[in-house]
Amino acid sequence: MLDRYGYATHEVLNQPSPLEDYDAYASDGTLTAIVKAFGAGWAEDRLVEAGRTVGSAHVQNLARLANRYGPELRTHDRFGRRIDEIEFHPAWHELMSLAIGQETHSLSWTERRPGAQVARAALAYLWNEGENGIMCPILMTYASVPTVRGNPMLAAEWEGKILSNAYDRRQIRAADKTGVTIGMAMTEKQGGSDLRQTQTYAEREGEGWRIVGHKWFFSVPHSDAFITLARTEAGVSCFWVAGWLPDGSRNRIMVQRLKEKAGNRSNASSEVEFRGAYGTLIGEEGHGIRQAISMGHLTRLECAISSAGIMRQAVAQAAHHVSYRRAFQKTLIDQPMMANVVADLHLEATAAAWLVFRLAAALDRDSENERLLNRIGAPIAKYWICKRAVPVVAEALECHGGNGFIEDHLMARLYREAPLNGIWEGSGNVIVLDVLRSMMREPDSVPALLAEIRAGKGQDRRLDAAIDTLADDLRDLARHEGQARRLVERLAVVLSASLLVRHAPDAVADAFIASRLEGGWSGAFGTLPRSVDAATIARMAPPAGAG
Ligand SMILES: Cc1cc2nc3c(=O)[nH]c(=O)nc-3n(C[C@H](O)[C@H](O)[C@H](O)COP(=O)(O)OP(=O)(O)OC[C@H]3O[C@@H](n4cnc5c(N)ncnc54)[C@H](O)[C@@H]3O)c2cc1C
Repeated sequence: MLDRYGYATHEVLNQPSPLEDYDAYASDGTLTAIVKAFGAGWAEDRLVEAGRTVGSAHVQNLARLANRYGPELRTHDRFGRRIDEIEFHPAWHELMSLAIGQETHSLSWTERRPGAQVARAALAYLWNEGENGIMCPILMTYASVPTVRGNPMLAAEWEGKILSNAYDRRQIRAADKTGVTIGMAMTEKQGGSDLRQTQTYAEREGEGWRIVGHKWFFSVPHSDAFITLARTEAGVSCFWVAGWLPDGSRNRIMVQRLKEKAGNRSNASSEVEFRGAYGTLIGEEGHGIRQAISMGHLTRLECAISSAGIMRQAVAQAAHHVSYRRAFQKTLIDQPMMANVVADLHLEATAAAWLVFRLAAALDRDSENERLLNRIGAPIAKYWICKRAVPVVAEALECHGGNGFIEDHLMARLYREAPLNGIWEGSGNVIVLDVLRSMMREPDSVPALLAEIRAGKGQDRRLDAAIDTLADDLRDLARHEGQARRLVERLAVVLSASLLVRHAPDAVADAFIASRLEGGWSGAFGTLPRSVDAATIARMAPPAGAG
């Protein structure tokens, strides 16, 4: 076309249409199969609604806006009064309203039927394809419920509002709100992993406690209440601290500043001081760390679910792009090396999904064996899947060529987001130590894990051989802390393979085993061996019917 000076520069050719306005649930063959296999089929209508929401161009644009125009701290009002308010772009509030309205924080606690944990996990997985920053308050609010329910006084006052589907953006006292969100504040400057170093202290005042100290990481500082740790004479203890007091004033929580983060920019993460904040003791005095760890089982699995969702989004974007983009007279997905890359990415994302949802299903099942499986399995999944999300996103970004590195494209945002789940709720080494701890403190978790792995025996001789050596590996490696990452990686990969032979298409299970268990696997993508039909597997990766 000629411009007004009569020059023709270029037409936009060979640029794929954006992957938007599609149903991220129905187009994901792995997720739909998982939901059926683990008894959450009754939630399909809700999942389709969430899938359409997160796949919409509207939500993609909200996510872009919420990250581009991040939160700002207003410490004082114009008259000089301290207010500690966080100001957000309206896109943040709309996203929160949609995700809470779709019960992403609550479905597992409000629906008492089998499959409720799986159904809610599927909502969380989908919403991680939509926007990651909002999943921080959603995760903490979801994971707070067992603690709240364990304390009748708290439950009476807070449970109904926590489980409400109404997002109430107002930063005012909870009594006047229709719905609330909960934060968790543990990390201090001198120690995040080692919570025994907590310096913040609490002193009794009447029925409650006054809390004094700091928190170095304090996400969602505008939450309606926080679960936090402070030291008393009996040791580190767990407290409930409301954001606002019954008289409407801000509890004495002073936000020092918002952190400038590599990713997760839509979400406010801050540094705070508790200057005599009023709190209530939860659980036994001096047993706060145990209490924090018990919530950690839910939050850690949630991190793995989030990373699995991020992987799916990254792989879907990459597979969509290469299905339309052409180079050297061929569509990229038909170039043998690209087919190998996309197939390999699809295997990783598929294995991650089956692993996290199997552990979510364990939460649904009321048996000691399933509890033990979840106890050891959640940190195994958290460690491995959060680690793998980083190279998956980087490789998926590269599939887009230069476009993937540009801010207009959501791949750049996913890339910055990918490492975070590996850090919070316990960084890699700490999570691996938690696997070892579960083996030592709850030794029956090992047979529970091995039984789940052995359920896949008899279908593939390579997997059988890997399973046979696992018990020896466990005995040997568990004794050497320095080798523990190796052990946990092995457990994660063999457990994933066992799930895939039982549930996934044969081609997927076979390729996963051929690449990950037969030896010589570097972990880089696009290295599937010749025996694998990469072209067929690559064609499974794009969202079905989208584009
Ligand atoms: C964006 C963001 C938001 C956050 N929001 C919150 C929040 O809302 N609330 C909250 O409480 N925290 C929050 N955190 C903090 C987070 O949970 C901690 O950063 C994390 O637990 C690690 O603690 P740390 O930073 O003190 O690192 P450290 O504890 O100093 O650990 C540093 C490294 O040492 C490793 N390590 C520790 N112990 C051992 C060991 N025994 N053997 C081998 N290696 C070891 C760790 O794995 C890690 O890699 C947030 C963090 C981020 C990045």
